[in-house]
Amino acid sequence: MPRPFEALHSVYRDYDAFLTSGAAANGFVLNTTDPREAETTLTQIRSSAPHSLKPVYLVHDNGPRAATLADGCISSLQEASTRYERFAKRAAVFKESSPTDSEELRLLRYLYLRPELTLAPFKDWRHPQLYHYPIVDALALSGQRRPGLIKNLRNRGLIESVQLLDRLRVCPHCDHAHTGFIDVCPNCHVIDIREETFLHCYTCGNVAPQAEYLHGGRLTCLKCQAVLRHIGVDYDRALDNFSCGICRHLFVEPEVRARCYACDWSGDSEQLITRRIESLRLADAGRIAVRSGQIGDLYSVLDDLNYVNPPYFRHMTDWCINLARRYTDTHSRSFASSSTMCSTSSSALAATASC
Ligand SMILES: [Zn+2]
Ligand SMILES: [Zn+2]
Ligand SMILES: [Zn+2]
Repeated sequence: MPRPFEALHSVYRDYDAFLTSGAAANGFVLNTTDPREAETTLTQIRSSAPHSLKPVYLVHDNGPRAATLADGCISSLQEASTRYERFAKRAAVFKESSPTDSEELRLLRYLYLRPELTLAPFKDWRHPQLYHYPIVDALALSGQRRPGLIKNLRNRGLIESVQLLDRLRVCPHCDHAHTGFIDVCPNCHVIDIREETFLHCYTCGNVAPQAEYLHGGRLTCLKCQAVLRHIGVDYDRALDNFSCGICRHLFVEPEVRARCYACDWSGDSEQLITRRIESLRLADAGRIAVRSGQIGDLYSVLDDLNYVNPPYFRHMTDWCINLARRYTDTHSRSFASSSTMCSTSSSALAATASC
């Protein structure tokens, strides 16, 4: 067993220098006062398969972004070593991470190793989704985070909400959050509309912008030549407030269209997809998934007690067999029931509640 923080015996200029050395490490201590350098190194570590889950402690406060990728600040190497011991105990429940681990499993393991951690969204107007989770992005080994990863884990109950922080309406076409609304003509859908005061002539029923009635300092209807002296007697204000510069349509309210500034999609505002922005943590199902190494199928164990995945079924069957051997009288019936299900169901979806 390597001693905790054996790499602390060596100091490296940066992460590349550490990789070149070929040394092994159980964790890292980052000693820089430059936030940008800290972020770069942390991103390198988090996106490197052998080290992505390792603890990284900071000597200096390198700002909020670095903090989301690191495991806090330490005041001494002894503190780092003490904290690592707790970390190592939790890490012992699963094998070393490998490049073939799915992105989901890597993230769940990361959270499992840090039981107090809450994934907090980071707001960045330059980011396509406006909010993002830096650690989720950094753990994507290819550098290209799979879209919908958080939503996927959330829907499967592997992570859960801590707090709702914001609600966005995103583009249904490209998923970007940089959307906006624009008023258009409800008749021809162009944006060339203007707000005006419209008058309604009581004599002939003509409705036109007030400017068209003004002649020689008084209001005269161009259609019937009536002089409009008294509002409420000769004329009144029409309900229409807008006119279209292209089709001349008069209307009360413009049509509101949504549009995406990333892909130029335009459509009904109802078509935008609502996205909840939440702080998140590992759920009980996620903890079990990490310990069992089963992400996908295990959820069904928790979601529907009538069905289990094959490894779980085999484990439960073995357990039932051992139980039946120990207590022959009371458990012989349930053992028989379980072994029958095992042999008849190749996909191993069987109830084990009777065990
Ligand atoms: Zn779009
Ligand atoms: Zn129009
Ligand atoms: Zn008139």
